[in-house]
Order: sequence, then structure tokens, then C-alpha cells
Amino acid sequence: MVDKVDILVVTVFTVAIAIYFNKDLLLDLITGASDEAFKLQNSSGSRDIVTVLKENDKNYLVVYGSQTGTTEDYAKRFAKELISKFKLNVMCADLEDYEFDNLHNLPSDLVISLFLSTYGEGEYPDSALQFETWLKNLDPMDKKLDNVNFTIFGLGNSTYEHFNGAARSAWKLLKANGAHLIGKFGLADDGAGTTDEDYLSWNEKVTEQIKTFLKLDEQDLKFESSFEVTKLESLEENVFVGEPSSQYLPACEELPHNDEGLQTGPFNTIYPYVAPIVKSYELFDPKSGRNCIHTEFDVSGSNLKYSTGDHLAIWPSNANEKVEQFIKALNLDGEMIFDLKSKDPTMKLPLPTPTTVEAAVRHYLEITGPVSRQLLRTLIQFAPTETIKTKLLDLSNDKDQFAKEINAQYFNIADALYYISEGKPWTTIPWEFILEFTPKLQPRYYSISSSALTEKQTIHVTSIVENVTNDEDDMPPVLGVTTNLLRNIQLDKAGLLEKDIKDKIPEEDKDEPEVEEEKKEEKKEDTESVNEKTVEKIETPTPSKSATKEKHTLPVHYDLDGPRNLFQGYKLPIHVRRSTFRLPTNPQTPVIMVGPGTGVAPFRGFIRERVKFQELNPNVKLGKLLLFYGSRDANDFLYREEWEEYKTKLNGSFEMVVAHSRLPNKPKVYVQDKLKDKEEEVMELLKEGAFIYVCGDAKNMAKDVNAAFVGTYTRGLKIEEAEAREIVKMLKSQGKYQEDIW
Ligand code: FAD
Repeated sequence: MVDKVDILVVTVFTVAIAIYFNKDLLLDLITGASDEAFKLQNSSGSRDIVTVLKENDKNYLVVYGSQTGTTEDYAKRFAKELISKFKLNVMCADLEDYEFDNLHNLPSDLVISLFLSTYGEGEYPDSALQFETWLKNLDPMDKKLDNVNFTIFGLGNSTYEHFNGAARSAWKLLKANGAHLIGKFGLADDGAGTTDEDYLSWNEKVTEQIKTFLKLDEQDLKFESSFEVTKLESLEENVFVGEPSSQYLPACEELPHNDEGLQTGPFNTIYPYVAPIVKSYELFDPKSGRNCIHTEFDVSGSNLKYSTGDHLAIWPSNANEKVEQFIKALNLDGEMIFDLKSKDPTMKLPLPTPTTVEAAVRHYLEITGPVSRQLLRTLIQFAPTETIKTKLLDLSNDKDQFAKEINAQYFNIADALYYISEGKPWTTIPWEFILEFTPKLQPRYYSISSSALTEKQTIHVTSIVENVTNDEDDMPPVLGVTTNLLRNIQLDKAGLLEKDIKDKIPEEDKDEPEVEEEKKEEKKEDTESVNEKTVEKIETPTPSKSATKEKHTLPVHYDLDGPRNLFQGYKLPIHVRRSTFRLPTNPQTPVIMVGPGTGVAPFRGFIRERVKFQELNPNVKLGKLLLFYGSRDANDFLYREEWEEYKTKLNGSFEMVVAHSRLPNKPKVYVQDKLKDKEEEVMELLKEGAFIYVCGDAKNMAKDVNAAFVGTYTRGLKIEEAEAREIVKMLKSQGKYQEDIW
């Protein structure tokens, strides 16, 4: 039976989310508040897309709705290519910056290329919510968009049920309202790891079709910068050296703060809260050979609020070694201070300026991600020698050769450039090109592992450290930017980080100072957590036994003090992203949770929430809380000590079922196997109206768990599998089967 209260709550909540996301936009519009550095420089300030296109003599429009920045990146590349190839006067814009109400007045020889990503359960990205509402409110009977000619490219992941849901929806709505599609509907599949190749094959065809449609002449790709770089002499107060937004500059007096001088937000994708890290510890046993860091951010006094089940965005910066490598490979002057002006009034600056080259590379550019084949194609014009030109041509034309020589080696931009030039730095690539073609460094999201009811002043995250070892022994591993930063902080905070191998302390001198360091640290944590202690809270067990006293030499190091010491004392910029992953409002509704690995993070928050509720309402009998958890073995069993405590506090309503996949001489057991083992009990809970929650790996686990529930229904209700699949689908649409997968 569907729990009507819960459906109502899910509906109200969905509406509330939509309002919430538009709220900041509305607030920005009302107050005019937005980051100065990213503002359009010369536009009339109109938000009407047709007016701005006309005002700026634009004859092509590329628009994007991007959640993590990848879609924005592809849209910008596409726009750049149209400019270089066809001399089109392209406007490239974020959907959230404009209104489309007058699109029916668009000249019919102006083509729109829409790039749209899909988020969560087929949702439009936050920045496209307004566009979605506009599209959905059009009446197809009016065929109001009959004058619109468009191309569309969706970026999605086939491991999710609603693969490219947002792009499909936009495509259907545009067509239903009379708009005409040029070429094929382009779909990129991150689940298959083919986003770049999907884009390239769509691009190849669609550019030909656009050329025919608009009767264009083609010329050789030639880079013309959209920006003008000016070299500045001295480091003034208004020069960004990595601050996340202009409010953090010494020259800025705008920082919204309360009487105690603490920042008050609103905190969002352009203005994060620089939060102190009050606790950080390793969760895995050293025997596991891997690392997983528990981090607690103090948000007391900041107005930064979250709900249990939300996501925390952490803004990273690049590691010293990677910054150095990038600067060397491109023969840059890291100390150069520069200002940037957009030659095109409709074009946003890619980063806040004035700034330094080093700050741009460290804080604003994504320098370690995979390289695209298209980038190599665009680099041909800067090839310093004929040999390098031939190499670039071969690699960019042959996708198998590119996959083998570049992708399979996990090369980042600098690695690839060194490989192609046989170790020589590149002196021919202009800084403007680097700024335009290197993606923006994006915040990374984490499922919050604390409960807003229990931890009002701190936000916990549980992050596995990304350390992908390369098949080739002599190649360095791929090191995740954010998770290695969190590990550096954890070790440094505990005095366990060997900062420089050259200054290695002799073994015999090690013990004394470390004990002192630890004492100092304990004292610091005591004072830093003072706000937290005023809130009644569940005790967090002490950092695991795995915190060894041995110093660690890590492959990468970071500037932990941050720009102008903004992060000193272990701080990082963060903001909260609302999710729809929520416990049922009725605490008596049973709950089935499936979260292997770090997928258990939000369930730690859920359980802590119920523990607190039980403390406050001892007479309420809670619904069953059944958690399926999986780890390789006992060495990577997350929060092992905590679960026992929760069981005691929840008086038998909480049960945890554990699957281990790598026990010696034992078959591999996964959460879906355990679900099958317990399917009778699971079926009973489902009959009682249990909510299902799945968190973690989207590629395999979520699908296997979905199949396990289909199996449970098939056998439990003695029905056809197709019928069981429909039931599971219906639960999802009712918000009774929720996924937080990535
Ligand atoms: P990145 O630097 O982003 O690298 C990530 C991966 O990209 C690498 O491991 C590698 O596979 C690949 N890669 C990078 N560079 C290259 C290259 N040159 N060539 C080829 N491949 C490359 N994670 C958690 O641990 N806990 C959570 O609770 C959690 N919750 C999440 C919730 C949401 C909604 C989402 C979207 C993600 C969540 N994640 C979570 C994942 C997390 O956001 C990050 O993706 C993850 O921590 C890696 O970030 P990073 O900066 O360390 O790694």
C-alpha cells in the first residue's frame, strides 16, 4: 500500500526543492548579487535571449544546462569550433542566465544548439530548471516554436534508469512545439565511458548538416581568442590568488556576515563557505591497502543548513606536483599577473580575474582529468615541429590509436603533451588558448554521512581515496584531486604527513615530537569543537586503530594554507546541494537500505537520525531499519564500532546484514546476494509499505540491487517478472524506492 502521507511529503518536497533552487536565482535577480568576476562585461543586462542575440549581432546560439561543468565544457568547445570553422558569430550561454519567452521572435536562419546534462532520476540540471518550466508551460497546440531550428546533444549515463532523461524531455517538448531538429539527436553515455567519442561522432555529422543548412563556407581550424590578456605589474588587494569568489578578497567589504563576523551566505555554486575541518580520521585498517577518510566540517554560526540525505560539495585545488608539471609542460610563467577582458560581450570569463597564472592553474583549472581527442586536433595549429604535427594528426584521427596511446595510459594534459613532444616543454601554445580549452575545476559531491537532527553544527562526509593504479608499472597512478587533498589534511592534522622526503626525520628522532604534535592536536580539536558540544550528540567513536604513528610519504602534496592563508587551520570551501533522498516522514514506516562501500554514508546519517528520534521519543515504536552493507573484508568495514552502538540504542528496530566480497577461500558475496538470502523478511517489510534506499555505485551495484528486488517481488508475490518490474518502477515514481548513486 502506498503511504499517502509520504507521497504528499515527497510531492511537497519536490515542489519545495524546485522553489529552493530558483530561490537563489530569484534572490540574485532581486538583489543583483552575483560574483562580479563572472559577470558579463558589456551586455545591456537584458535577460531576454532574443534581445541579447540581436544587440550583439549574433547569428548562432549555443546554450547549455550543466550540473558538474562537463556539459558546459562541450558546449563551449562546440561554439569555439563553429567560430573557427565557419566564422559564425556564435553566442554561447548558460540556460540559467537568460529567458526564452520571446523565442518565437528568433530569426529562422539562426540555429540553436542545446547541450543538456541529466541529473539524478532524469532531472534537468539545477541551472536549467527555469528553462524546463518555460518549455513545459508552452501549449503544443500553438506550435509557437515553428521558427526554431535546433540541434541537441544530451550528456547522460546509461547505468541510470532515465538515461539522458532531461535531453530526451527537452527534445520532445521542442519538437511538440514545432521546432525543427537538424541532424541527429546526440546522446553521450558516460556509463559506457564513451562521452568524448559519442560527442566527436555526433559533431562530425552535425557540423556538416549545419554547414549545408546555413550554406556556410569552411576554413581551416584557426584559434582566435575570445579574451584579451593584459599583463599586470603588482599583486594588489583585488588580485585573486585562488579565492573562490570576490567576497574573499582583502579589498572586498561585501562579505555577508553576522555580529560575530562569521559568513552568513547564501552559499552556493559561486559563493562557498570556507569551513573549518574539526575532525578527520582514517576509516580503513592499514591492512586494506586503501584509504577512506571521515571528515567533519564545522558550520556553526554560518547559516549553512543541511538536511539528512543532502550532498556536500567540496571545492578542491590541485596538488603542488601537478601544478608544477602543468606549468612546466606548457612553459608558463607561474608568477605572471594578468587581467582578462572578454572581446565578446556575451561571453563570461572562465575564471575570476585579475589573477596569477599559478593561481589559475592551482585553483580554477581541471588539469589532471583525461584528455580529449578533439583537444589534440585543435593543438595541431600549435605543433612546434613537423614530427609533432604528424603525431597529433595520427592521434586525433585514429580513435583506436588515441585510446591505446593516451587514454589507456591515464594521461592528463601535461602527460599527453610531454609524451607527444618526447619530453620537451611546449612553447607555442598561447595562454589564452589554455584558459579557453582547459575545463574548469569543479567541486566534488559527497553524500552527507551525518544527521541534521543530531549534528546541527557539523557536516560529515565519508570519502574513499581515489588512487587508480596503472597497468603499466612504470606509470604513476591516477590520484583523485579532492580525496587526496582530504587525505593530506587528515595526515597533516594528525602530524603524520611527511611533507618533504628530503627533510625526512631520522627514525630515532621521530617519537618525541609526534607525541607533542598529537597532544597539541587534541587540544586544538577540543577548542574547535566547542560549538558542537553545546548540541546534544551521539558520541562518535574515536578515530580507528588504524591511525598509526608512522609518518606517511604521499605522492602528491597541497598548499593546505590556501590563498592568502584563507584555509589555514584546515579549512576548505564547501556548499550544500539539496537532494531528494529522504527518510519517510513517518518513523514507523519500515526502511530497507542498501549501501555497500561508501554508499553507506547517507545511511549512517539516517540511522543517527532515528537514534536521536528514539532518544527524544522513547515511547514510539520505530519501523524496522534493515541495512544491507558490503565491504571487501573486515579491514575496510566502515564505522564498524558504531553500528553495534546504534543497535543497542534502537532497541532491536535496527538490523545490519553484511556481505564480504573478498574473504580468503570464501566465495564473493555481494549485497544483492544477501538481499536474496533474506527475501522473505524483505517481502514482508515491503508488504508493510517499506521504503527502499540504494546508495553507491551506479554502474553495477544499483542495477543488480534493482534486479534483486524484482526477483523478490516475482517470487514473493508469485507473479511474472515483467509485473514485478512494473511494481519496482512504480515504487520509484512514488518516491518509495530512492537512489543516491554515482
Ligand atoms: P577526480 O580527480 O575527480 O578523479 C576521479 C576519477 O576520474 C579517477 O579515480 C579516475 O578514475 C578518473 N580520472 C581522473 N583523471 C584521469 C585521467 N587523466 N585519465 C583517466 N581517468 C582519470 N564518493 C565518496 O567517496 N563518498 C561519497 O559519499 C560520495 N558521494 C557522492 C554523491 C554524489 C551525488 C556524487 C555525484 C558523487 C559522490 N561521490 C562520493 C564521488 C565523489 O564525488 C568523487 O567523484 C570522488 O571522490 C573522486 O573525486 P576526486 O576529486 O578525488 O577524483
